[in-house]
Amino acid sequence: MKDCIFCKIARGDIPSNTVYENDKVLAFDDINPMAPVHVIVIPKKHVATLLDVIPEHVDMMGDIFSAVTEVARIKGIDEKGFRTVINCNEEGGQVIFHLHLHVLGGKKLQDELA
Ligand code: AMP
Ligand code: ZN
Repeated sequence: MKDCIFCKIARGDIPSNTVYENDKVLAFDDINPMAPVHVIVIPKKHVATLLDVIPEHVDMMGDIFSAVTEVARIKGIDEKGFRTVINCNEEGGQVIFHLHLHVLGGKKLQDELA
């Protein structure tokens, strides 16, 4: 997708601070962190929202969640714990329409999402 910010990050056209990468997924620090650790995990393939995930994407979703484990270990938040969030569409707070998962941690998180 030519004009998608996260596709541009995946291609390296926009710089990001890579936390973890393999051939299927990329994890990078959020530019506007909401917690001491705030990492965005994206599939390199463009999928717009969670609603666009189809059965053929099952491996991709597995790759994303495997990357979450890597990110948690790399950031040292695996033992104390962390939160994962996927925002979907406007009322879910989705701003960038390339599927992504937020990894939040590094402090005791409050129930601030409702
Ligand atoms: P969402 O509201 O779920 O669509 O989340 C989009 C997230 O992407 C927000 O937390 C933004 O701070 C983050 N973001 C936007 N642009 C960039 C960027 N260039 N590099 C890193 N994170 C970004
Ligand atoms: Zn994209």
